[in-house]
Amino acid sequence: MKTAQRLGNLGTETSFRVAQDAAEWKARGNEVYPFHLGDLNFPMAPHIVEAMDKAIRDGKTGYCPGPGIPELRAALADDIGKRRGVTIDPAEVVVTTGGKPVITKFLQVVMDPGDGVLYPSPGFPIYESQIEYLGGNALPYRYVPTADGFAIDLDHLRASIDDKTVAIIYNDLQNPISAESTEAEREAIAAIAQEFDLWVLSDEAYFEMRYKGRSKSIAALEGMRERTVILYTFSKKFAMTGSRLGCAVAPREIAEVMSTLNTNDESCTTHYVQWAGIAALQGPQDEVGRMLEVLRKRRDATCSIINSIPGMSVAVPGSTFYVFPDVTEAMEAKGIATLSEFSTEALHNTGVSFCTREHFGRRQDWEDRSYIRLAYSGIGENDITEGLGKLR
Ligand code: PLP
Repeated sequence: MKTAQRLGNLGTETSFRVAQDAAEWKARGNEVYPFHLGDLNFPMAPHIVEAMDKAIRDGKTGYCPGPGIPELRAALADDIGKRRGVTIDPAEVVVTTGGKPVITKFLQVVMDPGDGVLYPSPGFPIYESQIEYLGGNALPYRYVPTADGFAIDLDHLRASIDDKTVAIIYNDLQNPISAESTEAEREAIAAIAQEFDLWVLSDEAYFEMRYKGRSKSIAALEGMRERTVILYTFSKKFAMTGSRLGCAVAPREIAEVMSTLNTNDESCTTHYVQWAGIAALQGPQDEVGRMLEVLRKRRDATCSIINSIPGMSVAVPGSTFYVFPDVTEAMEAKGIATLSEFSTEALHNTGVSFCTREHFGRRQDWEDRSYIRLAYSGIGENDITEGLGKLR
């Protein structure tokens, strides 16, 4: 029996494979320091747990509307709108099972086979996977290192656009490299989107994972609301990665199709989890602040040890919970030629487990430096110090 040809185009999040290698290494009795997954070792806040529990006890366990329960859509419209300085109608909000489905549904709605979509590389690997799986032309745009992080290579991005290009995926507060746009960079992306009449998927998964100042959304710039779909998720901010709750904020006609896709794909997002989402948005926010404070200390510990290792360097990021050090010279000094060899050596000799540049987009053609990604969201400060001490 045959299977679909398009399966050959399906990628994945290979960080889950790294997690599996680390788990196997640990099962053999070895110490493992987990820096590989962007998951959080923080509990859900008690009032969110209580709200979910109460919703189950109150019988909120049956089907509910495909685009989400009206109470949650209203709460999301209010919270997302206020934090971004835009007005959002609840009809523009479509609740989803986490942020990830917004990527696929966005592409399903705006892209035909053969159309081009720009996306960051290195970047969240599902962009590339889904563009190619759905028959689109994946157009990676790249970053260049700067004194304090990374910037989008706007000339390269612009040069990749042709008359078949329909959208840009833009992930400010970026995974894996923690890049943040300056005002000028965000405005330049918006200007390009308007000049070439492109849709924008603004992946705002880390919008509130910022250590000082306030994030800004490209959707708030003039002329952008009507061409932007915001990806929002409860996963990171509220440590709810396994609860699977997020939403798209989209122009009404796009929201309506996304809602029909929900009905086709999963009927609805888990009913009682949506009530927990309302509690998360409207309840006390102290846990978010406490978590960010702990994460900030972990970031500082991670960066300071990495920068003390000969041949490794990283700028201290202002957001997300990833660092993306350049390890080119460290690899050369050890005579290690490939990133996969480097990460295996690190795991087997020190127990430190991490992803590398190779896990964030198949196209490597623009890059001559070697980077690894350390996620400090799932490992305590003592283990950071101990593990990275061994790596040093
Ligand atoms: N977008 C980016 C940039 C991410 O890093 C992630 C998760 O790591 C997601 C989207 C998906 O988040 P969720 O767990 O809510 O599906």
